[in-house]
Amino acid sequence: MLSKITREQVSGLLEILYPRHCPFCDRLLSGREPLLCRRCAGELKLIQGPVCQKCGRPLETDTLEYCDNCRRKEHLFIRGFAPFTYRGRVQDSITRFKYDGRAEYASFYAAAIRKFGEPFLNVWMPELIVPVPIHPERYRKRGYNQAEELGKRLAASLHIPCAQHEIFRRKNTRPQKGLTPSMRRNNLQNAFAALEGIRLPERVLLVDDIYTTGTTLDALTETVLGAGARKVWFACASIAPGRAF
Ligand SMILES: [Zn+2]
Ligand SMILES: [Zn+2]
Repeated sequence: MLSKITREQVSGLLEILYPRHCPFCDRLLSGREPLLCRRCAGELKLIQGPVCQKCGRPLETDTLEYCDNCRRKEHLFIRGFAPFTYRGRVQDSITRFKYDGRAEYASFYAAAIRKFGEPFLNVWMPELIVPVPIHPERYRKRGYNQAEELGKRLAASLHIPCAQHEIFRRKNTRPQKGLTPSMRRNNLQNAFAALEGIRLPERVLLVDDIYTTGTTLDALTETVLGAGARKVWFACASIAPGRAF
């Protein structure tokens, strides 16, 4: 009888039907390891110490307020953060999350963003999450949008909606990687658009998997501000270290 099935049996059954993997070592997880394996949980390193007051990038000393990138250019978003530096095992993990079908890692990264970003999120009080949209063609090829997977889970835990259709990608842009700053900006010109007649709430949180130079998030901020938002922040799963650009 259904009522006799224990919680453990259910989670055992779910593991067989939907095996989940540790986001760092990719081993199969047991029901007692809900988000990552015990070994990786012990080795996990969140960003600590001084960070850029604008983008949250780790800084080598606390004598400066901003990272090189944020000192050179003004951003349209107010501020943002990421729990992890994009390198080593995190970099490998994000690559699998993005390109190798591991959409399930979104549960771990959304929980990490929530926990790490609690002090910010409590003050910002976003009313809507806008994940960085991908072009429908890329969506068809990949089967999911990793930013949207993150955004949906984070929105559910914050009890706010996630905009999955209101803001969309108009151009199938080239990947930003390897482009110069001005090429990045041109590549993204008019890349995003809002559905006609859409009016977004005042306080919006943008969500993405990696933050590099902020060009993508600036372009998206512009679109979101044009659709009625007044204050825009971001949360990313990871951020490239200073020397990466
Ligand atoms: Zn692991
Ligand atoms: Zn910065």
